[in-house]
Amino acid sequence: MPSNRWSLSVPEAHRDRKLRARNVSHARHNVPVWSNGFSMPDGARILGQHGDEVRMQVSMPTDEHGFFGRECPSCSQLFRVDADDYEALPDDIQLWCVYCGHHGEHSDFITRQQLDRATRAVEDWAMQSIGRRLDQSLRRLSTPPPRSGFGIQISYRSTPFYPQPLPGIDEETLIRIRSCGSCALRYAIFGEHRYCPVCGPLPADVIATDAINAETARLDALGHLPPHTAATLREQGVFTRIWVDTLKNLVGIVETLAGTVFRTTVPDAPQQLKGNVFQRLDDTADLFVEAGHIDLRTLVDAATWQRLRQAWATRHVFTHNDGVVDEKYLAAVPASTTPRGQRLVITEQLSRQAIADTQQLCSAIARLTGRPTAATSVP
Ligand SMILES: [Zn+2]
Ligand SMILES: [Zn+2]
Repeated sequence: MPSNRWSLSVPEAHRDRKLRARNVSHARHNVPVWSNGFSMPDGARILGQHGDEVRMQVSMPTDEHGFFGRECPSCSQLFRVDADDYEALPDDIQLWCVYCGHHGEHSDFITRQQLDRATRAVEDWAMQSIGRRLDQSLRRLSTPPPRSGFGIQISYRSTPFYPQPLPGIDEETLIRIRSCGSCALRYAIFGEHRYCPVCGPLPADVIATDAINAETARLDALGHLPPHTAATLREQGVFTRIWVDTLKNLVGIVETLAGTVFRTTVPDAPQQLKGNVFQRLDDTADLFVEAGHIDLRTLVDAATWQRLRQAWATRHVFTHNDGVVDEKYLAAVPASTTPRGQRLVITEQLSRQAIADTQQLCSAIARLTGRPTAATSVP
């Protein structure tokens, strides 16, 4: 028996709208289809056989939103893509993993469940193909048995093949639909991401906005804890720790955004950058001014800038001095009601205010790129 080489055009399969099923129901799809002389389950068809190559198309059902799964061959994480948007892409498109940035052939992004479904279709073809070869071989052997003496007697009856429905796809349900600000592809993710499946690396301001939203969501989640759990965590200082972490994360978000914007807009950026300048607010603003940009301090109002200075100084004393006020803090926050040597008390309100102010600051930094801020999500 020749070894058949499979050419499975699985990712393209959803393009056949007749084969596309939005809500997979095994009962409704248990109708075998004759395809190139083979009895195939609904959703699978033989496109052609040329020599030792068999081409088969296997439909991949989309979810109720019209999305289907992609699985990164490198980090094995799932994401989902709108089937209509995917259909409009060129056939030779290379995909990016939204999480790790692996870049490769779109057919490499087949999910485990899609592969199981495709494999079942291949098995159905193989069963029938083997059955036929057996039929042909045994028909040649089916000579009348000898009337006497020794010999063998063969009785063989071929049975028709009834394919079972292909396994459905039941992957993780999407939480919300995102839309790439550059290529408009609609996709869904299940964790922090840095890449559009088609365009690759996301703009720095989009990453910053996502990260800021994650900080708000984290604080919101604390408000939904059962009362006893919340009280236990508060007593252990978990709430305080999270509010401090929020400030640290905000400084990190601005540092990443400002650094990226500076490096992409200032030609000799590497020569100008020393140390962690983007962790310091006024130094960051000065650096942009020296590079010919508008002063960030004029893009947000004075009260906001002062609250940002306080948040940055608070982050600094919690990182380096366990929250105890020092001279450096008082220099940044002259109106501080907490004297030197006393520990700062941090609140949820302060964290939330810092998030709102950082949002304004990030919009101001993004405006320095001179391009419109990319929209990322469809509510
Ligand atoms: Zn990956
Ligand atoms: Zn894109």
